[in-house]
Amino acid sequence: MSARSTARVAIAGNPNTGKTSLFNRLTGANARVGNYAGVTVEREEATWRLPGLDVELVDIPGTYSLAARSGEEQIAVRALFGLDGAPRPQLVVLVVDSTQLVRNLYLALQLAEAQLPFVIALNLADVARKTGIQPDASRVSAAFGVPAVLVSAATGEGLTALGAVVAEALENPPKPMLALAYPQALEADLAGLLPYAEAATPGEARALSLWSILSVEEGDELLGVPVAVRTVVGAIRSRAAIAGRDPDLEIVGTRYRYLEAQDFGAAPPKAGIAFSERVDRVVLHPLSGAALFLVVMTLMFQALFAWSEPAVAMVEQAFSAVGAGLAAILPAGVFTDLVVDGLVAGVGSVVVFLPQILLLFCFIGFLEDCGYMARVAFLVDRMMKSVGLHGRAFVPMLSGYACAVPAIMATRTLERRRDRLLTMMVVPLMSCSARLPVYTLVVATVFADDSEVLGLSTRAVTMVGMYLFSTGMAILAAAVLGRTLLRGPQIPLLLELPPYRMPRLPTVLRQMWLRARAFLTEAGSTILVATVILWGLLYFPRYESPIVDVPASEDVASAAQLEHSYGGRLGQFIEPAIRPLGFDWKIGVGLVGSFAAREVFVATMGVMYGIGDDADEGSTPLRDRMKGETRADGTPLWTPLTGVSLMVFFALSAQCLSTIAVVRRESRSWAWASFLFVYMTVLAWVASLSVYGGGIWLGFR
Ligand code: GDP
Ligand code: MG
Repeated sequence: MSARSTARVAIAGNPNTGKTSLFNRLTGANARVGNYAGVTVEREEATWRLPGLDVELVDIPGTYSLAARSGEEQIAVRALFGLDGAPRPQLVVLVVDSTQLVRNLYLALQLAEAQLPFVIALNLADVARKTGIQPDASRVSAAFGVPAVLVSAATGEGLTALGAVVAEALENPPKPMLALAYPQALEADLAGLLPYAEAATPGEARALSLWSILSVEEGDELLGVPVAVRTVVGAIRSRAAIAGRDPDLEIVGTRYRYLEAQDFGAAPPKAGIAFSERVDRVVLHPLSGAALFLVVMTLMFQALFAWSEPAVAMVEQAFSAVGAGLAAILPAGVFTDLVVDGLVAGVGSVVVFLPQILLLFCFIGFLEDCGYMARVAFLVDRMMKSVGLHGRAFVPMLSGYACAVPAIMATRTLERRRDRLLTMMVVPLMSCSARLPVYTLVVATVFADDSEVLGLSTRAVTMVGMYLFSTGMAILAAAVLGRTLLRGPQIPLLLELPPYRMPRLPTVLRQMWLRARAFLTEAGSTILVATVILWGLLYFPRYESPIVDVPASEDVASAAQLEHSYGGRLGQFIEPAIRPLGFDWKIGVGLVGSFAAREVFVATMGVMYGIGDDADEGSTPLRDRMKGETRADGTPLWTPLTGVSLMVFFALSAQCLSTIAVVRRESRSWAWASFLFVYMTVLAWVASLSVYGGGIWLGFR
């Protein structure tokens, strides 16, 4: 067996040029793709097998320029130059959108100036051809002194040729050399800066100096720009300002003049772009755009909230059928209970999220792939930005009303880590559908059917109030966290919108499959383990009734078991902490149990009140027993004040294992998952205390 040689090659290019599609196609890997600027957030790596050669391919985030200004561009620059411990790639494959050559090749020009060895993949050749553009690979190649190949990540054309070019370039690295002549004054500036540039070659030093002039304000930390360079650049800038010059414009202008002077074969105004512009006149119009936006978002929300319901019910029924089947064949005992109530139910509680995850990512997939998602962000950006959130956080926030788990996974559409984290930290405050049964039970218990405020049903008003409250708190939390812990520069939304494209079903399906798989394997295992542990807490130690002769009814026995269990004891143990909120130990046990899923609170109340665990939120006997419950002093426990306090607690607290598990997975950090839990719990406790304490003080009971 001959040893295959390996090489490290980075895939770079502007956002949305098909880098990830190409990466997937070449390596067979399944990185995520989308018609959406900035989808690649973390670095993806996989092997591209060429004849006799393994290429370690790195998919890096899109960047418009080497003058790193945004976080993602900085990651890209780091990867290209091998800064921060990342190994420097031997070769760069620059992916270019063939339909937007001049703008895309700006990056090629910078790579050439920096003398990085690279080859150009003129991607989207299929689209270019359809729109009547004929990119001339040989002229592109001549303009930068590196090979260029027409390819299509969608059809696979040109990929063999690209492989050959890459193999050859690894043998004989292309030496791009491009010395543009900048205006004289700028050349003088450059001459002054050159001695400070620590570079291997004169060409690299020149490129580095140009780059320092453009990006030193923000790029200095990252690029380790020496203090001397910063000082000289500062001097250059102030001198230029006095002379009424703009060095940025001189550099960028010279570069674009060079690009525009080349004849790359880009046809004049293209039908495709004209089409996108015509569509945008409707889609971004204040009236028709807003209407379309409402329709699309309503559809998505409806799908998550209601259409997923039959599938969710099916999953639940399937797992309880499996559980019942196993219970029937296995001998009664601890092991069977573990299998049935712990494992099978636990797996069920993971799988039950799939319908919503699949649906949400189906929507996101189509919206991204056709190009509408970028418009969504555009339409709501101003509103979202006012609370510190990114425009693209809208879809995750909206999904949060259905369930935080898919919503947190949807934060993947955000490019900056800070934006993702901020969204993850506030999405769980949105009133998810699992809180609904709890609210329903509580509202029906503490308010009479015919009770009214201002002529409206008190129950209905309270329910609406809870939704408004949770939305308001989420916005408030975003505003506070976004200005404190997760402060970050507001990056202007790129004004440029991707052209509309026909969404491709395989792309969408693959994304759905990838998300589902990631959830099942990564978050799912955590959720399963946690669910089984929680089951154990409520199951052990076993309770033996002291009265042997008179067998208690099953419901009474399970209430006694629950009370006796570790979880039950925990509920009693925390009673002093929750008493000031108006809760008793039974509610405490309910809070412990609801970690499995918030709606489990209802079933736990059913058990605690001796109705059995199949009680639902509409159960009249359960409500009646709850209404009869009294405190030590004989006053009723379930007053409207207790009810509102409990609902406020449910609205704000993070008692949901799955949410915490998925935040940990998506943030890749236990610290953020713990922070979420702690801040929400504290917030919930303080808010409930204010409600209950304030209510008592005002004379409510
Ligand atoms: P990235 O942001 O550069 O990683 O771009 P992606 O790989 O996410 O692709 C952006 C969009 O362009 C996706 O909708 C792809 O399906 C689509 N796409 C990528 N390459 C091609 C291509 O060669 N032809 C066509 N028709 N579509 C492509
Ligand atoms: Mg990508």
